[in-house]
Amino acid sequence: MRLRVLRWLGLLLCVGLAPALQAQEQEKEQEQQLTLDGAIDERHHNRYIELPFEVPAGTRRINVTFDYPRGQGVTIDLGMLSPSGLRGWSGGNKARFTLGEVDATPSYLPGVIEPGQWRLLLGVPNAEPGARVTYQARIELLQGAAANTQAFADAPLKAQAGWYRGDLHMHTGHSDGSCMNNAPAKVACPLWMTTQSARERGLDFIAISEHNTRSHFQAQRELQPLLDDLLLLPAQEITTFYGHANLFGSTGFLDFRLTEADAAPLLEQLAANGGLLSINHPGLPSNRDCMGCGWTAATDYSAVSAMEVINGGTLRATQGWVHSPVSGIPHWLAQLAAGHRLTAIAGSDNHNPQDAPESPGAVGAPTTVIYADSLSQQGILEGLRSGRVFIDVRGDHPEAVLQLQAATASGQAQMGQVLKAPAGDEVTLSVSVSGVADAAVKAWYRDQRLTPGARQRRQGDTLEAQYTLESDGQPGWLRVEVTSAEGQPLLISNPVYLNLP
Ligand SMILES: [Zn+2]
Ligand SMILES: [Zn+2]
Repeated sequence: MRLRVLRWLGLLLCVGLAPALQAQEQEKEQEQQLTLDGAIDERHHNRYIELPFEVPAGTRRINVTFDYPRGQGVTIDLGMLSPSGLRGWSGGNKARFTLGEVDATPSYLPGVIEPGQWRLLLGVPNAEPGARVTYQARIELLQGAAANTQAFADAPLKAQAGWYRGDLHMHTGHSDGSCMNNAPAKVACPLWMTTQSARERGLDFIAISEHNTRSHFQAQRELQPLLDDLLLLPAQEITTFYGHANLFGSTGFLDFRLTEADAAPLLEQLAANGGLLSINHPGLPSNRDCMGCGWTAATDYSAVSAMEVINGGTLRATQGWVHSPVSGIPHWLAQLAAGHRLTAIAGSDNHNPQDAPESPGAVGAPTTVIYADSLSQQGILEGLRSGRVFIDVRGDHPEAVLQLQAATASGQAQMGQVLKAPAGDEVTLSVSVSGVADAAVKAWYRDQRLTPGARQRRQGDTLEAQYTLESDGQPGWLRVEVTSAEGQPLLISNPVYLNLP
């Protein structure tokens, strides 16, 4: 057995690096790669071999990929020993596995990664006379955000760019989600019921966001290979006395124990943790009826990526009334007015996967629709950050697509992007809606409603509307809502931003 350290990238920092480069180097510091290789022949028949490697303090995840040629008279089984004992055994059934603090490939136990000497355990149930093979084990040791942001899926579920539909706020029995058993009695609902319901709704991705716990990640690690058409995004609902926020894309621990109405301690942990933060149901009250529900923490919004402007539980409470007094939309618009780019998203906040489909608060009602480079954790999170996102309020328009484009004589931008429009420039906003029968469009320049009846054209199930306005040269935004013939909001766009720095 031979041990080669391919890269130990923590040594590359030097004084005077530009900040971007420093950030890149810090990222690399979080990853160490080792290769263990050697040969097995007939002398190893019915023997166990231990391949030792050092795990430095601070390591939070170990990834192993093991290769050897099959069908040449040798069989190799795998296991892993930590300094305190056997951490799992996968025999000959897995050539690749991950072992983290709160999730691990089934066969292995998640838990604290102790520093010290670990050993990859090889078992040789068969090595025939004269046979000889070489093996190679590639081991990644991850720290910090790199350890927390590993997807449950090894590869994108779909490689193509497009609009992907999902539910970004749900609970199961890992927090306060419940469903009925056969008795019938209310029980803590197992997580697979929620994934099953999401699949039946035709969703592409979901974020199961339990309150202040990470116990749901292991079940998702186990389910993801079966769910080859439903991406499971790691999420937690960081539930404080001063408001709730979803952490997406990280399995790390973000300390929820705020003791003052100030979000700074959360935001300070965010970069080290990985993932992005979205403020939940900001319009709910915070009183004895709903303790800590509304967002009352002082917040540097430049560190926040999104805001849940439509919450299924809230919609249920208001019988589907979108612009109710507890709507999140005014809170979002207030942050836009303060010059922030904040992606508007939605979540069902479902607590029972047996809720009647398409009723407000059922799985996928509402749905967030994200344009992503691929159906993958990275693709969906980048899409969410980019702001090319719209909300299907009832989650009942599976074919809906809403596109915005704003243009001046010298430039153009789409939803989520910034258009420079000096004072006096004419701006044309073009809206295209498909997949919504009898749709009508309402458009706004900041809080000013744009003249309805501007050029509209309907072709098949696509409605195209165009508005013109004169820019005042100040930061602002253009946004639309697609409504039913009765004026009920069905789709809500994100903005095209004007003149943001
Ligand atoms: Zn909440
Ligand atoms: Zn919730």
